[in-house]
Amino acid sequence: METKIFSKNNLKEAAELIKKGQLVAFPTETVYGLGADALNKEAVLKVFLAKGRPADNPLIVHVKGAFDVEEIAYVNQEFYLLAKHFWPGPLTMVLPKKAVVPEVTSGGLDTVAIRCPQNDIALELISLAGTPIAAPSANRSGRPSPTEANHVLQDMQGIIAGIVDGGHTGIGLESTVLDLSAQTPEILRPGGVTLEMLKEFLPSVRQAVIKPGEKVKSPGLKYRHYAPKALLYLVAGEPEAQLREILKQIETKNSAQVGVMATSEFFDLYPVVHKVNLGSRQNLSEIAANLYGSLRYFDSTEVKVIFAETIFGEGIAVAINDRLQRASGGQIIFAGN
Ligand code: AMP
Ligand code: MG
Repeated sequence: METKIFSKNNLKEAAELIKKGQLVAFPTETVYGLGADALNKEAVLKVFLAKGRPADNPLIVHVKGAFDVEEIAYVNQEFYLLAKHFWPGPLTMVLPKKAVVPEVTSGGLDTVAIRCPQNDIALELISLAGTPIAAPSANRSGRPSPTEANHVLQDMQGIIAGIVDGGHTGIGLESTVLDLSAQTPEILRPGGVTLEMLKEFLPSVRQAVIKPGEKVKSPGLKYRHYAPKALLYLVAGEPEAQLREILKQIETKNSAQVGVMATSEFFDLYPVVHKVNLGSRQNLSEIAANLYGSLRYFDSTEVKVIFAETIFGEGIAVAINDRLQRASGGQIIFAGN
């Protein structure tokens, strides 16, 4: 199959493909999504095949506004309150689903995850397609999420019908997933809309914790995500201690095969060929936006092991750490002082 590249001025044709049950990747403000008509079973099945995604990992359904949600889910007051403040934006809300949503879309669950993206291309595409669009990140399962059309091509060329090229996505990390179907609202996945921001409107909201042996509420969290081909180690501790630890690690290895994901504060100090500048510790949105592109960069090199500096804190730092931990499979080196 030839994968057609569309510009933002050619969305009609892209929308026609979606209507016909084909797959079209498109930009949102978070990452590129792999879009299919959310109400068409066969189309949604193609998403799972193209990604190699486990069937029990449900998709997020994208709508053009809060009023479209009643068509596919049972809404409540909290939903409208949050939609008013955070939509369009990187907040996904999980609600009890209506029967029109096929089980493939919801991964067999009786709830459905919904969001309204803050991206004009995405909103127009949904509007032209005349249907909600199911769209997980447009990468093969287990690979870093795409933040540029070119990343989508790396994973999906020849496999999907089209890509709308909208340049680099702004936020670079996936949406916050909030479960509104339970007694107490819970964040299932941290993202751009933080716990602190949600607390202002929903004082009872909390971060979900998975206890050993308990059923995972967000099936996607079971799987290792965003893995680069090289081994990834996170280095934790005081920033200067992280720097010293990584320098020590480099000394003992072939420096051409060691990669470093560095903050701009220390970037110049690492004597290796392959390193990426994530951005400043003073500007965490910059680090979030650069994270996945950086992980992908190392896949095109001979690097065998990557050391990543880490950032601690609240807000978006929680989402950055969540993605880094999952990319590393939980491999952390604690740097002493
Ligand atoms: P992705 O689209 O790949 O960024 O992942 C979507 C995320 O939303 C995964 O972590 C899913 O487990 C989660 N998700 C989607 N639908 C539901 C749902 N009905 N209940 C709980 N989590 C969901
Ligand atoms: Mg994903």
